[in-house]
Amino acid sequence: MTQRLVIIGGDAAGMSAASQARRAKSAGELEIVVFERSTRTSYAACGLPYLLGGFVKSPDALIARTPEQHRAKGIDVRTRHEVTAIDAKARTVTVSDLSAGRDFTLHYDELLIGTGASGILPPWPGIEAKGVLQLRTLDDAARLDALLDAGARRAVVVGAGYIGLEVAEGLLERGLDVTVVERLDAPMGAVLDADMAGGVADAMRAAGVTLRLGTAVTGFTVVGGRVTAVETAAGPVGADIVVIGLGVRPNAELARAAGVGVGEAGGIVVDDHLRTDTPHIWAAGDCVESRHRVTGRSVVVALGTHANKQGRVAGTNIAGGNASFGGVLGTAITRFQGVEIARTGLTEREATAAGFDAVAVTTESSSRAHYYPGAEPMTIKLVAERGTGRLLGAQIVGGTGAGKRIDVLATALWCEMTVAEVAGMDLSYAPPFSPVWDPVLLAAGKAASRI
Ligand SMILES: Cc1cc2nc3c(=O)[nH]c(=O)nc-3n(C[C@H](O)[C@H](O)[C@H](O)COP(=O)(O)OP(=O)(O)OC[C@H]3O[C@@H](n4cnc5c(N)ncnc54)[C@H](O)[C@@H]3O)c2cc1C
Repeated sequence: MTQRLVIIGGDAAGMSAASQARRAKSAGELEIVVFERSTRTSYAACGLPYLLGGFVKSPDALIARTPEQHRAKGIDVRTRHEVTAIDAKARTVTVSDLSAGRDFTLHYDELLIGTGASGILPPWPGIEAKGVLQLRTLDDAARLDALLDAGARRAVVVGAGYIGLEVAEGLLERGLDVTVVERLDAPMGAVLDADMAGGVADAMRAAGVTLRLGTAVTGFTVVGGRVTAVETAAGPVGADIVVIGLGVRPNAELARAAGVGVGEAGGIVVDDHLRTDTPHIWAAGDCVESRHRVTGRSVVVALGTHANKQGRVAGTNIAGGNASFGGVLGTAITRFQGVEIARTGLTEREATAAGFDAVAVTTESSSRAHYYPGAEPMTIKLVAERGTGRLLGAQIVGGTGAGKRIDVLATALWCEMTVAEVAGMDLSYAPPFSPVWDPVLLAAGKAASRI
């Protein structure tokens, strides 16, 4: 008899699961129905800041697969359909067809929740005003474009995390006066140690961004329904547009209301096969908690790289296979103009907070042989456990070619290597690519000498 897999959410996690399950099982064996409340499927939100900045020319370039393309592969994608309730006992979902304006229920044999996350929007007075927005969807990007076309000149970005930085770069590229307001004392202050974040602040100021650090937003001045300033504890900052980039929260309410376990970090609790604690219900992507491989704790790390992998693992298992998700390290990378910023594992602050006796070293080196054209300065900070020498984390800030070196350190971390082992690794060398002592080897050698 044909089984039915219902998927809630048609982006990275949901559609990866659908595609993987479809590869493993024919339509005769498994019917796959995906409910997506927006009009789009499988698009790269990660590319939105680069669309804003004009590095990517068309919104269509960000769409990996349209609903029609999924349907042609035997996946019944229903856009503008929002799932409003799950009955885990009856194994049904209640669905609101947003176009037709009617509700219906549908039975599932297996259910995957891939509802993603929502941007954090504090209840600041005036946050509903025209001109205050987030950059999370292609519709947001279109709204932002319309405001720019209508003559917006002054932009304020609230939050100097990954997305805040990428949006600030995009807005500068579009010729706006950009101010970034950040509650912490450094940009990327939540993900880098303060000593590493200084280089990021310098780069932003040098590019013409006005940085208001250590400044808390309290609300917005609104005139005629439009934002005209961001109110802060240190006074108002004039604005034609405001982009909020304060991080995300998992969309776990639907699961919670159905009695599915939600953890302390706010995400749906899943095992390494992406099963929830409720029979026949699976979850993947930004809405779940993952195991941090260094601390062993449950964390929410809302990244596309995990959503795609988790969707694939869930799809394999739902179709009767046996795959597992290995956990996360919090590896991430971004850039601000020519400065690349990357991290993996724990910062020194996080390692100490997690109870490790941490040793931290910082090395300055260059991305290529110092005599080779294009050599750029780069800083690596390594965090290791005193005594054992186990690598706990790494941060990199530097010019072109610096950032992706984080992947070597993420691999070492994944394999639970010591800094002495990393220092002895056989890494490639030729002058256009690295100094004879690659910065990773240099940093690891220095860390090994301090253990
Ligand atoms: C501007 C930006 C830049 C980013 N850059 C990076 C990057 O460089 N690297 C990286 O790894 N990650 C990046 N990310 C994060 C990445 O986009 C997300 O981690 C990824 O999209 C998560 O996929 P998901 O399928 O779990 O959730 P989502 O992509 O959020 O998809 C969830 C889907 O579920 C739908 N949905 C929710 N509830 C319901 C419901 N009740 N009924 C029906 N449908 C529902 C939503 O409409 C949505 O389409 C970025 C995100 C943004 C916004």
